[in-house]
Parts: sequence; structure tokens; C-alpha cells
Amino acid sequence: TPVSVGPFTVVLLGDNGVGKSALASIFAGASDSMGSECELYGGEVFEQTITVDGERATVTLLDMWDSQDEGSWTQERCLQTGDAFIIVYAITDRSSFLHASELRIQLRREREADRTPIILVGNKCDLVRCREVSISEGRASAAVFDCKFIETSAAMQHNVWPLFEGIIRQLRLRRDSL
Ligand code: GDP
Ligand code: MG
Repeated sequence: TPVSVGPFTVVLLGDNGVGKSALASIFAGASDSMGSECELYGGEVFEQTITVDGERATVTLLDMWDSQDEGSWTQERCLQTGDAFIIVYAITDRSSFLHASELRIQLRREREADRTPIILVGNKCDLVRCREVSISEGRASAAVFDCKFIETSAAMQHNVWPLFEGIIRQLRLRRDSL
């Protein structure tokens, strides 16, 4: 078996209630590996080794962002320690979408000139009748902010693995270009 790369640290960002922990628990429950989890700074940390395109990668996923805790030490740590970021909003909550854009701007400010992989995630796409943000708005926002985009449903387990695989592919591309 090929050696695994990483660990890569991937940080979940986004408003409270958009589904970050739901996404993290799907990641934590991956059955093809023995993951570990622990608590840190009032949040949770999950580690998994997963195979993407035939290559193993170890990912440490941080679920400790608290959107109420503006400017806190934990928020600072989150923004500084990520090798990659998953910015989540709920398609049923326009304000979470606007906050996702602000987070993108904040990241760009904190990590100037660095090509950190970022994926914008529109979660809760199962709630079609409560949709407040269209797919095309999500896509357009990602294009403006030069990041990838995907809609997911943690509840239906839709597109959640493509999300994590996508971030690993981006991390490898970045590694290979260094
Ligand atoms: P967090 O604050 O960002 O960690 O959000 P949580 O993961 O705690 O989710 C907040 C609420 O949204 C919970 O009641 C979840 O069950 C629900 N939720 C999360 N993801 C989805 C989803 O994809 N679809 C639906 N319908 N509900 C979801
Ligand atoms: Mg949570």
C-alpha cells in the first residue's frame, strides 16, 4: 500500500446551525478506517485516513468554530491553523450565506497571498421548499472568491464524501505545486 500523506488540517467555518457538526460526524463515521476523535478548546477534532484516487491521506478535521464568539482566541487559532477550509452556509438561511462571504474575506485578509484551498458549501440542500439561496448564487459567490463550490445534505448524506475528497485533491494539487 502506498504511504499516506498528511496529516492535513481542515477547518470547518460557518454560522452556528448550518450543519458543520453534522458534516463532521459523517466524516468521523467513515467505516474504512479507524478514526480518532478528541475534544479541544471546546470543539471537536476528528482524524481519519481515507483513500482518494488510490492515495491515502490523513486528515485532521476541526469542528470548533463558534460564530457567536467573534474575535476570540479560538477563532484566531482556527483561521491560522488550517491547511484548508470548508466554509459552510445553509441554503435555507440567507444570512449564513452572507456570513460565508465575510468569512472568505476574513480568510483572505489573514492569509494574504497564500493559496489555501477553500470550498464553499451550501448545506441542507434536502430542504428544497425552504431554499433561500439558489445554486447559481452559490456558484457565483464561489467564482468571485476564487474557491470551489458544492451543495450537500448532511441529513441525506448527499455529496458529503465528494466534499471531503475534493478538499484532499485540492490539498494535493497545492502540495505538488510547491
Ligand atoms: P453546526 O452548529 O453548524 O454544527 O450545526 P449542526 O450540525 O449542529 O446542525 C444544526 C441543525 O441542523 C441540527 O438540527 C441538524 O440536525 C440540522 N442539519 C444539519 N445538516 C442538515 C441537512 O443537511 N439537512 C437538514 N434537513 N438538516 C440538517
Ligand atoms: Mg456544531
